Amino acid sequence: MKYISTRGQSPAQSFSEILLGGLAPDGGLYLPEIYPHFSDADLTRMRGMNYRELAFEVLSRFATDIPADDLKAIIDKTYTAEVYCNVRDGENAADITPLHTLEPNLHLLCLSNGPTIAFKDMAMQLLGNLFEYVLDKAGQGINILGATSGDTGSSAEYAMRGKHGVKVFMLSPHGKMSRFQTAQMFSLQDENIFNIAVKGVFDDCQDIVKAVSNDHAFKKANHIGAVNSINWARVAAQIVYYFKGYFAATDSNDQQVSFAVPSGNFGNVCAGHIARMMGLPIKHLVVATNENDVLDEFFRTGVYRPRGSANTYHTSSPSMDISKASNFERFVFDLVGRDAGKVRELWDAVDNGGAFDLASTPFGSAQGKPLNGQSAFAKVPEFGFQSGASSHAKRMEMIRQTWETYGVMIDTHTADGLKVALEKREDDVPMLVLETALPAKFEDSIREALGCDPVRPAGMEELEDLPQRYEVMEADVMAIKQFIVTHTA
Ligand SMILES: *Cc1c(COP(=O)(O)O)cnc(C)c1O
Repeated sequence: MKYISTRGQSPAQSFSEILLGGLAPDGGLYLPEIYPHFSDADLTRMRGMNYRELAFEVLSRFATDIPADDLKAIIDKTYTAEVYCNVRDGENAADITPLHTLEPNLHLLCLSNGPTIAFKDMAMQLLGNLFEYVLDKAGQGINILGATSGDTGSSAEYAMRGKHGVKVFMLSPHGKMSRFQTAQMFSLQDENIFNIAVKGVFDDCQDIVKAVSNDHAFKKANHIGAVNSINWARVAAQIVYYFKGYFAATDSNDQQVSFAVPSGNFGNVCAGHIARMMGLPIKHLVVATNENDVLDEFFRTGVYRPRGSANTYHTSSPSMDISKASNFERFVFDLVGRDAGKVRELWDAVDNGGAFDLASTPFGSAQGKPLNGQSAFAKVPEFGFQSGASSHAKRMEMIRQTWETYGVMIDTHTADGLKVALEKREDDVPMLVLETALPAKFEDSIREALGCDPVRPAGMEELEDLPQRYEVMEADVMAIKQFIVTHTA
């Protein structure tokens, strides 16, 4: 399997070659040159598989340059009941992503049972083991530099802690993360993890990461890498739980299901899109946004209009507070018939602060040849996408309603997914809402909605009392580069 760029101007690469990188050299995102396909017979064979077996079945089609036995060993050590142990009472950790039924045909697919109790652990834990494997083989090291306001940074640190060949330098805005998230990250005592609390806001942290990444000489000399949401292996790892959820909610391949996905950077739902392209019987992929509704606007109108920071809101589902959806380009590449010239044209506008409108763009029109006069946007239903947006008031209402009706406590992101799922659900089509974090991660909002504190998973009760290890630094690119240089191997 080779990977091509959505912008069509980079050479095709193997899975291992793109594993440690980010964007393709031409600025595009990598996708498989063709999607592997699972037949009805394949699905029947896979139906009884456990999570590890399914993960191997799916990922071996993508990571074709890793010997099968090695890939199997990496998967087997990643997806264990010990790592994904933070399950609800009554759920079985061995399921890795248990299905929790709220009522007939309405389920939560629980993806947040890993060490940082958010769904990013599903892919990041695999990435940690994959990184260690390829770096060991190549006799190399990597220094991961990132900026976080919460979930991504902690998930990356818990995935990379103690891995040989890997160091993590994670910038976060000093004093601006929740006490729980701060404690989760800063209590790590591993020598390869460096928490840098920057005197500034999240955008300052992100600007520093960008400045370092744009210094190509420094980046090369110091083996700087990233683990951002466009990483292909993260998307690939997320495909697996769509299969797991489908099999858990159905008993025959004749049945279809729909998934509702709390979305920010479009990484999670992009994995669902690919699962569907691979032959999984998915009826609808329901994209749920918060007040930052750039994706909902696209699926309603065909206009993709990224926002500036002044129009990006801080909400009570903060991990979905995005101004642009970094993985969205992958879907648009498929939507316009994999016409890389068209994608370049569209992102020319986006990368210059503009927008595009696919409702008035004829399909496959890079050379100006409309297909049946149809617009690219008119093709969206063929891909099963639907969307909706939520708000703070709706979020609170959903958390209350779910608690009162089912006795189940959900977090604010999952609440956005459930809100839109209820609007879009159809009779006789199971709706699976992806649970992207546990409520313990967002205590303040739970207290506001329910007037009580969420229960913390075992072992996290005293998190804020643990000793913390971090450096406070000015928002100064030079100083942070110097810090990295002195702490790399
Ligand atoms: C990252 C995150 C999301 C958004 O996922 P995307 O892949 O960026 O769309 C939703 N909920 C939670 C809790 C997250 O951490």
